[in-house]
Amino acid sequence: MYNTINSCKDRVYFDCNATTPILNEACQAVVCTMQKVYGNPSSTHMAGVEAKMILERSRKFASEVINAKPSEIFFTSGATEAIQISVLSFLQWISLQKRQGLQLENKKILISSTEHKAVSNAVEHWSHVLGLDLPIVFIEVNENGHLNLDEIEKHAKETIFLCTMAVNNEIGVITNLKCIENIIRKQEHHIYWLVDCVQALGKIDLDFSFLSVDYATFSGHKVHAPKGIGFLYLREGAPQCPLIVGGGQENGVRSGTENLPGIAALGVILEMLNERRNGNLTHSMRSENELFEFRNILVDALQKAFPSIIFNTDLNYSVPTTLNFSIFGLTSKELMNVFDAAGISVSGGSACNSKSVNYSHVLVAMNLPEWRKASGIRMSFSFATTKEEILKGAQNILSAGKALRNSCLNLACNIENDSFDIVPSQDAFHGLLQLNADYANTWLLVDSVTKSCIIIDPTDENLERTICFVKCKNLQVDAILDTHSHSDHNSSRKILTKKLNIVDKAKNILGWPVDGNILDFNSNSWEIERLETPGHTLDSVSYFVFDKSNPVKPLFVFVGDTILSGGLGRTDFEISGIEQFYFSLHLLNKRLDENALLCSAHDYNNSFATTWSVEKKSNILLQKALNPYNTMGFYEFCRDKKIIDSQLSLSKEQGKIVCGLINSNFISCSENLPVISPDKINIKDCILIDIREKAESLLFKEWYTFGFDKQPMNTPMSQITNLMCDLLQGKEYYLNKKIVLVCSTGTRSLQIAKSLRRIGFQSVWSVSGGVAFSKLKNDERLPA
Ligand code: PLP
Repeated sequence: MYNTINSCKDRVYFDCNATTPILNEACQAVVCTMQKVYGNPSSTHMAGVEAKMILERSRKFASEVINAKPSEIFFTSGATEAIQISVLSFLQWISLQKRQGLQLENKKILISSTEHKAVSNAVEHWSHVLGLDLPIVFIEVNENGHLNLDEIEKHAKETIFLCTMAVNNEIGVITNLKCIENIIRKQEHHIYWLVDCVQALGKIDLDFSFLSVDYATFSGHKVHAPKGIGFLYLREGAPQCPLIVGGGQENGVRSGTENLPGIAALGVILEMLNERRNGNLTHSMRSENELFEFRNILVDALQKAFPSIIFNTDLNYSVPTTLNFSIFGLTSKELMNVFDAAGISVSGGSACNSKSVNYSHVLVAMNLPEWRKASGIRMSFSFATTKEEILKGAQNILSAGKALRNSCLNLACNIENDSFDIVPSQDAFHGLLQLNADYANTWLLVDSVTKSCIIIDPTDENLERTICFVKCKNLQVDAILDTHSHSDHNSSRKILTKKLNIVDKAKNILGWPVDGNILDFNSNSWEIERLETPGHTLDSVSYFVFDKSNPVKPLFVFVGDTILSGGLGRTDFEISGIEQFYFSLHLLNKRLDENALLCSAHDYNNSFATTWSVEKKSNILLQKALNPYNTMGFYEFCRDKKIIDSQLSLSKEQGKIVCGLINSNFISCSENLPVISPDKINIKDCILIDIREKAESLLFKEWYTFGFDKQPMNTPMSQITNLMCDLLQGKEYYLNKKIVLVCSTGTRSLQIAKSLRRIGFQSVWSVSGGVAFSKLKNDERLPA
């Protein structure tokens, strides 16, 4: 009997729009058809006939669920294939019409702008392959994701093919198909109409005896059947053209021996859906009312946990099982990490890679503000989710919110209206915090004893987070320092000063608050020295942070955009000076210790920070500039530097100015990946460091999977420069130890391991597959 859809007792799976676990009833059907009814439905002996009966039974259930004829149902490998057949069928037909003289001028295809990529890409692909290249118009949606029906009406006359979806997979909004039908059926010609029903099956009623849809597509794995099975509804009389030809199965529309286990499993689910429609709820299915009640429970928990939440799903016109939301100040990736650590699987609305951010095309089409696109999360459950799972999920959501608050990351603040809902955290943090958004760094040097801090390189990108951290930790801000003025924007110092309600003691444009070059701020640990290093801009400076008890060698040096990890800052702004830059490099060379950690204003390569010795070794231009035997040094440097600067352009995504050389592949090129499998970790000779942010680490309880009985050391990514500094200073604790970094999936820890290796620490490793892999290994669910 089916009890829970989650294989792991502590986790709740709320990503059902991506895929669903197979229901027990469906599993049994799979096993039965694999072991007992394994005949080929095309065979004429008894084993074949048995198989054929199962095939036709499933077809009957499929036709009943959408009120169509069994002869209009064709099993496919999934919705993507069903979409291809629909698109190809229509386009091949229109191509034939064209050859017979049909004029296609002004004719177009309409596709909803929030359609799944399987549809839009299929139309573009097949239209191109068939040489039709028909114009495609993407129909706009409003900020709630509802199609602009006027647009459809406007184009209807010239439209020959229309693609819409019944329910959107990302925001759950329901399309009013009847309204669309009323518009398109007013035309003299027939507009062929494809409706992607993948996310509608089991969630809304579909009745094709009352709706003149020509093609509709369905997927098994979204409704608790296995992956690799789906079906196409092809209205009797609509053009048809097979994508796969061969033995003529499925009435010639889809050749190939049928996937009987998949079809049988899907049939069982469809039968249960039919039963539910007839008022017979089986044990595994929830009623519509129950699903709405479940949604309310989750909405409540989310609102309590994240007061600044905004729902991107229009709760009045959506299926109850999908919730899409954004939380001010947190990116999708950060939220996903926290949810994951809290034991909830959700999906992110935007995906970041090292070079760009890809927002969900649905949220983009809805024209949402930047922060909502960057923060989008989809939480989706299904008609088989149990109340226990919902309650557990709600509990985990509350834990996630609490952990975020404790880590000073839950930005329940709105700088526009000065509302700050921040719970002060008692957790002490001592050292350097790196906030990074859009490649821009803002640094906070925090003394936990005196509860004071210095903010370096304040940027707009990190504004809210800086405010949130200072308020949450209840810190006194002794100075806000810029390393240089900017050619394209003002410093964020003024606004920070205002929002933090502090007195600006600046004596110069960069915020330096004292006479002289030494800032002995309210710290027992450090003092700061200012050194003028003009070039990137004529007012550029570097700030050296010394250990007060041993002020010989600097621990951290904030070099602004003079030196970047893997490159030099550009010197072609109006406020730059290339000559001065050259002499500043020489000055820095005199003053910098090889092991000083250089903390730049930008981190284009995701390497966190760098060292002077690494930069000197890896940067040919820098080597040339500093070579004492090269009498041509200065001229050659200026010439080469100008060429490099001229090749720097505005970054593609934002049109923002790039401040220095970007050499994105420089870390990924490293020879062997520094990864270690979880079973190779010997906890006796290694130091395991959890590099996830504090909130995630606090939420995670399953360290036993690593053979740990308690939580290991936690050095979050935003504090990793402290680890770098400790290693560079030769801190005894780490000597002769293997340092093993771990995160949820192994991505972030690998990035850090590479960066640490880059600055010379070869005994650093990342656990491949992270916590996820380790758990899988322990559960012995991995195939041998
Ligand atoms: N259409 C929608 C709306 C979907 O959500 C998906 C799956 O993500 C598909 C089509 C593709 O379905 P399948 O995985 O069965 O090919």
